[in-house]
Amino acid sequence: MKMMKTNIKPLLDYLDEILPTAKCELLYTKDYELVIAVMLSAQTTDKSVNAVTPILFKKYPTLDALYDAPLEDIEEIIKPIGLYKNEAKNLKGIVKDLVDRFNGVVPSDKEQLMTLPGVGNKTAGVIRAEIFQIPDLPVDTHILRISKRLNLAKKDDEPIDVERKLKKIIPEERWIKSHHQLIHFGRYYCIARSPKCENCKISDMCIYKRK
Ligand code: SF4
Repeated sequence: MKMMKTNIKPLLDYLDEILPTAKCELLYTKDYELVIAVMLSAQTTDKSVNAVTPILFKKYPTLDALYDAPLEDIEEIIKPIGLYKNEAKNLKGIVKDLVDRFNGVVPSDKEQLMTLPGVGNKTAGVIRAEIFQIPDLPVDTHILRISKRLNLAKKDDEPIDVERKLKKIIPEERWIKSHHQLIHFGRYYCIARSPKCENCKISDMCIYKRK
């Protein structure tokens, strides 16, 4: 389908109307805890991550404590999230790298963040936006789906393509806010299997509903 020149204002206004305070839903109190939580959330829901990380961070309350934590115990704690063996290995790798290579400080540089195990472009973007307030608009499964439904991206676009397209039409000062609002819109309104189209005020833009 041919993409038309996009008027993004109705979408941004609507997100402001229904989700004025959308923010990161992952539980964390320290920067490195967020890195771990975001890495874990790449394969599952924030809710599932929030069910295990408080237990982990209570038992191992510092980076050094996590550094010394037995891999098997971390596996046991994060087991409910699935793929836990690989995730536990990534988690230990992140902690080791932060301590050994970054003096225990989470780097703000995207390239450096992406050298951490399990941290790709999306995860690095979320970390930079959340901790350092560096404008970014990483695309998760919700944003990918919504962008395609709203004809802001092509059917076979990858997340990185969609990120590039959204960054062109959404003002930079709105990237972080829009990232959170779009995720919440996907979680609670434009849901994957049964979107709440009846009351959606941007249905004019939507090619999914029109089908
Ligand atoms: S009309 Fe339905 S599918 Fe389209 S954006 Fe709104 S909720 Fe999503």
